[in-house]
Amino acid sequence: IHPLYAEMGTTVFERMSALARELGAVNLGQGFPDGPAPPPLLKAAQDALVERSNQYPPSGGLPELRAAIADFYTAQQGLDLEPADVVVTSGATEALACAIFGLVQPGDEVILFQPAYDAYAPLVRRAGGTPVSVPLKAPGFQYEATAIEAAVTPRTRLLVLNDPLNPSGTVASAEELGTIARICMAHDLVAICDEVWEQVRFDGQRHRSLMDMQGMAERCVKIGSAGKIFGLTGWKIGWMVARGDLAVALGRVHQFLTFTTPVPLQWAVAAGLGMTDVLDELHAAWAASRQRLGKGLEGAGFAVLPNAATWFLCIDLAASGIELDDRTFSERAVREGGVATVPVSALFEGEGAPTHLVRVCFTKPDAVVDEAVARLANWR
Ligand code: PMP
Ligand code: GLN
Repeated sequence: IHPLYAEMGTTVFERMSALARELGAVNLGQGFPDGPAPPPLLKAAQDALVERSNQYPPSGGLPELRAAIADFYTAQQGLDLEPADVVVTSGATEALACAIFGLVQPGDEVILFQPAYDAYAPLVRRAGGTPVSVPLKAPGFQYEATAIEAAVTPRTRLLVLNDPLNPSGTVASAEELGTIARICMAHDLVAICDEVWEQVRFDGQRHRSLMDMQGMAERCVKIGSAGKIFGLTGWKIGWMVARGDLAVALGRVHQFLTFTTPVPLQWAVAAGLGMTDVLDELHAAWAASRQRLGKGLEGAGFAVLPNAATWFLCIDLAASGIELDDRTFSERAVREGGVATVPVSALFEGEGAPTHLVRVCFTKPDAVVDEAVARLANWR
């Protein structure tokens, strides 16, 4: 086995979900909504299973889905895309693997802002690259030109931007996107924009993609996930969007990773991207749970950081008068308090990790939210 995997642990998400199952804890750790899936989407998947071909679709994705994704981004984000700019993958995770394996060569450096989704660094290392950490500071997690510039060397090949940011739920401002774009252009960097949380915003703003910044359309690989848009994380339909030749090249990486992804679900997602009512309803339900968990936690004496996006709130332990560090809190909360959470420092590499923040997922039915709050209030 490659030494990278021999030395690796299990992801914090998998570990927390396993602990929650084993201990009967309420699981606010791994990010997923529980509760029923939207019936029109299930119907679309069922119809596709029964009425359409169940054989390999084209490797790049069903033409109908590639067109639906291009249209969706044109309508939602004003991007000027062709269906050929889209490659459908098995979740955003596969898109990340394709982009990183396709773009990173041995010796390349890749800027990873911290906190970073836990797949990035291992993929970069497996590609022979070196992750270079740029820590973002709580509570704002802002992007600062001087810190980014200081991390760039002649070996820097790309940066990975996760916006909106998991786990903080913060969003880059237009000015910060402009800074990142300027640095990419000045140093000839490609940006992988992991924008899986683009549709899960609560600040009344539309997502602005780095790809939409001047000069960036040709140097971005934008990654999305139906898992987040529809709250169906087990469907594992994702995609990457890049211009022309780059999309063709990344499609070649995809053809020898998974080749394709389950076709009935591709049909369902293609239909779902046009279901405005379904999307609005989901969003309203998530906004209500966010409110409910935030209010509940505050009522129980927990301080919660402002959040503009994602399914996550961060509890500020220090501001809540809790002296435990995040890992100790998470470990004890699941074992003694009966609630699984994610310590934010688990998503940090290098210096500068905050140890006073734990992430909780709020996209749960009211009874689950209330039970989690009651348990935490009782235990703290
Ligand atoms: N990137 C980020 C930032 C995520 O939060 C997630 C899932 N939580 C993924 C990628 C993976 O998405 P998928 O399940 O579509 O592979
Ligand atoms: N991305 C999800 C989260 O942040 C987890 C995905 C996974 O478990 N790999 O919770």
